[in-house]
Amino acid sequence: MSGMASQKYDEIVIHEDDPAHVLRHPTKPVNQIEWDDIKYITQRLMDVRQNILKGGAGLAAPQIGSSLPVFIYTPDRTTEGLKVVINPSFEPIGEEMIEGEEACFSVPLKSSKIKRWAKIKVQYLNLDGKTVNDVLEGFAAKVFQHEIDHLNGKLTIDHEKAEIISFETPEAFQAHMQQVHQEDSKSY
Ligand SMILES: [Zn+2]
Repeated sequence: MSGMASQKYDEIVIHEDDPAHVLRHPTKPVNQIEWDDIKYITQRLMDVRQNILKGGAGLAAPQIGSSLPVFIYTPDRTTEGLKVVINPSFEPIGEEMIEGEEACFSVPLKSSKIKRWAKIKVQYLNLDGKTVNDVLEGFAAKVFQHEIDHLNGKLTIDHEKAEIISFETPEAFQAHMQQVHQEDSKSY
């Protein structure tokens, strides 16, 4: 099983072991940062996802110890579909919300049931510094909102109304998340 938050990784900051509080700190605004730093951290995110985590729907800079406003995510779960998102913002379209379970590499062995906007309008910069506008729904909207939370210093377990499910073993966690993925692919 790959790309699962069922264990701890040296490269990933986790919530119980974050002495610099990088996970709970909002990231810096993009006008105060160097583009070379953005490119470096983007490459690190790609490398860690590919070679250490072996997958995953998204990964944000604070999770690898950086306070830059950058994340990568894949709207369709494929590596080919990965997008680099810099300095993002979003607003909901309509009022519909979907409740779903979310795991996170920074919160190992836990799943959190959270309500997210079903459809959102997003804006961000890509690696060329160009503004991207997009409309996201379902799985892609859920992942984008999860990752933007990271840039705002917020974890799944910090959501006031989150229902948190904890697992004793990686096996139990993986079996549960596999079921969640199957249900997700039915509803999204
Ligand atoms: Zn996360």
